[in-house]
Amino acid sequence: MKIVLATSNPHKVKEINEITTQFCVDNNINLTESINFILPPTDFNPDETGETFAENSYIKAKEGWNLSRNWCLADDSGLCIEALNGKPGIYSARYAETPQKRIERVLKELKGIENRKAHFVCHMTLINPDGEIAFSYEGICKGSIINEPKGVNGFGYDPIFLPEGYSKTIAELSEDEKNQISHRSIALREVIKYLTSFNRQV
Ligand code: IMP
Repeated sequence: MKIVLATSNPHKVKEINEITTQFCVDNNINLTESINFILPPTDFNPDETGETFAENSYIKAKEGWNLSRNWCLADDSGLCIEALNGKPGIYSARYAETPQKRIERVLKELKGIENRKAHFVCHMTLINPDGEIAFSYEGICKGSIINEPKGVNGFGYDPIFLPEGYSKTIAELSEDEKNQISHRSIALREVIKYLTSFNRQV
């Protein structure tokens, strides 16, 4: 089963396929070969004009469907910080010019603030070949923001995010360790469970 992943980023396709394969192996799900996420057939660049992760995820999924008329999965993710009223939130990718400047901005805004609680969100929307929402789910990874970046793995805000129950930042975890707990994995597992049950019905 080929599913268009509504992104222009081949690395995201690779990551999502790896998480899918691992989840299927771990759970004896015999769909590893049949679920395969692929890039959209042509340039993918929708305007993310939504005001929530759910809305942006739907906009991306619908655009992926428009281009392919196939099953299409989209995700929209970001970091929400309690003391900043949920910011950077849906603006996570646009909070400053570079990943390093985005981290610097967050740390500056949190300077002197005791409440460091934060969570990553990943909203996934799956659209069926008729263009209808078949399934959607919001994965959440809770944690806190430390005072200075640590670690070199991952991307984005990983170096300043300490997942709940961990003494290392996500950027200090291996890819496999991140995939056990990440907001994206949590949402994707639910999508795979949905697809599994769907496949059993037909
Ligand atoms: P996207 O919706 O997956 O493209 O994510 C939007 C932005 O949220 C990214 O550019 C990052 O700044 C941030 N973000 C999303 N997921 C992660 C993550 O797993 N680690 C660190 N930052 C993330």
